[in-house]
Amino acid sequence: MLIGDNEIARKAQRNRARLRPVEVNRSKGRSRHPIFLSPPHLGEPELAYVQEAFDTNWIAPVGPHIDAFEQEFCQAVGVQHAAAVSSGTAALHLALRLIGIQPGDEVFCSTLTFIASANPITYLGAKPVFVDSDRQSWNLDPERFQTAIHRRAKQGKLPKAVLLVHLYGQSADIDPILEICDRYEIPLIEDAAEALGATYKGRSPGTFGRMGIYSFNGNKIIPTSGGGMLVSNDADLIAKAKFFATQARDVAPYYQHSEIGYNYRLSNVLAGIGRGQLRVLSDRVAARRWNYEFYQQAFANLPGIEMMPEADYGISTHWLSCITIDPEQFGVDREQVRLALAEQQIESRPVWKPLHLQPVFADCEAIGGNVAKKLFETGLCLPSGSNLALEDLERIVEIIVDLHLGKTRRIEQRA
Ligand SMILES: *Cc1c(COP(=O)(O)O)cnc(C)c1O
Repeated sequence: MLIGDNEIARKAQRNRARLRPVEVNRSKGRSRHPIFLSPPHLGEPELAYVQEAFDTNWIAPVGPHIDAFEQEFCQAVGVQHAAAVSSGTAALHLALRLIGIQPGDEVFCSTLTFIASANPITYLGAKPVFVDSDRQSWNLDPERFQTAIHRRAKQGKLPKAVLLVHLYGQSADIDPILEICDRYEIPLIEDAAEALGATYKGRSPGTFGRMGIYSFNGNKIIPTSGGGMLVSNDADLIAKAKFFATQARDVAPYYQHSEIGYNYRLSNVLAGIGRGQLRVLSDRVAARRWNYEFYQQAFANLPGIEMMPEADYGISTHWLSCITIDPEQFGVDREQVRLALAEQQIESRPVWKPLHLQPVFADCEAIGGNVAKKLFETGLCLPSGSNLALEDLERIVEIIVDLHLGKTRRIEQRA
C-alpha cells in the first residue's frame, strides 16, 4: 500500500470536482468566508471507527484501534514496527531518549523547521547544533553537513545523533546524509511530521534512519486532532518506546517502576480517526499536489514569485504550497502579500523562522544559516488544505496578482 508514483499521478489527474469534498463548509453565493492555512479534513469513515470505539467502550490509551492503526501505518509507509503516541513531539522525545541522549550531548538538527523538532533535544538537557538548508529542496544541505561532520570527526567531537527534517511535504536528500551517519555510526532520526505520503527514491521518508516520527496534529496531512507515530525496523526500540510511553511499568502484578517514563500513548478513539484518515491519505496527497500545481500555473508569468522547488529524487506531498517573493521584481514584499491576504480573511504564514535565529536558541551553534534566513525573509506558505475549493484558490491568486498589478490596496508594514 506504499504510496507509489503511479498512484499519485493517477489521483492527481482525477477531476478536481471529485477531489473537492462535498462536505466543505462553503457559504452561499460569492463566498467571502475565511480561508485557513491547513484546516482538518475529515469524513464519514473516521466516524465509523470512533463509533466502534464508543460501542466497545475502549475510551482509553489502549485498545484495538491502536494496534490496528500501528499495523496499517507500518504497511502504508513500509516499515516493520510502530508506536502510536500522543504527538509528534512525544515521538521525537522518545526517539532521542531511546538512543541514550544525555545532558550536554550535541544533536545536529535542520535549522529550517518548526521548533517541535528541536524542543525534545533540550528536554533531555542536550544541545542542538543547527544546520542550514540547500536552495533546491529547502531541507538540510548534504554538502554542508558532510563538511561539518568530517571537521567534527577530526576534532573528536561528533554529535550523538542527527535529527533530519523533511519540510513542507518534501523529503530531504537522505542518501548522502545517511551515508555519513553510517560511516561515523551516528544514529539518524527522521522528523517526517510534515512529509507523510511523500517518497524518496520510491520509499517513504521517515523509514530510512534508526527511527522516524510522524504527526497527526490538526494541521497535518491526516489529522487525528493530535497524535504521532514513532517507527523503526528495530522491534526492541519500539517495544522500549511503548514501555516508556506508559510510565515505564515493570512486569509485575502491582505498579513497580525502575525507570522514569511518560504518559505518551495515543487514545484508542483518536487511533480510530487515524485509521479512517489513513484510508484517504493518497487522496489527500493528490489534492495538496493539485493546489500546488494550481498556484504554479497561476504564478508562472508573474515576475518575482517562485514556488518551492520539487526535488527530482522523490514526490512531495506539498503539504504546504510555499512561494518566495522577490520584492524588487514583484513590486511588493512577502509581508505585504501576507497582510493583503489577511485583510480578506485568508490565512497565510511566513516560512518557518529558522531555529538558529530563535531567541531561545541564541547560544546554540549554527553551521551556515543564510540560505534558511533568506527563505524565511522571502517565503510565504499559502492556504494548502486538501478541502480547498477551486473558488478559494482563484480568490487567493486574484489578490496576489492584483497586488502585483497595483490593483489591490497595499497595506503599509507595521514595525
Ligand atoms: C508538527 C511538527 C512536529 C510536531 O508534531 P506534533 O504532533 O504537533 O507534536 C514536529 N516537527 C515538525 C517539522 C512539525 O511540522
